Amino acid sequence: MANTETPKEYGLTELPPEPKPVPSCKICLGFSVRRGNARSRGDYSGVSDANVEMRRHQRGAHPEDRL
Ligand SMILES: [Zn+2]
Repeated sequence: MANTETPKEYGLTELPPEPKPVPSCKICLGFSVRRGNARSRGDYSGVSDANVEMRRHQRGAHPEDRL
């Protein structure tokens, strides 16, 4: 009954593709750098936050570049 907290299977198979920084956009680049830093210290929630924010930014700023 205390077993609901860690879904271990969640991970490698169904990750959505990460957003890519749009070339020449410094805001995208900032998210990309932040994501790289977070990943390099093993901060996966930081990686995921950066992805969410990059997507949100891209939806507003680069609607035509969205993949
Ligand atoms: Zn951008």
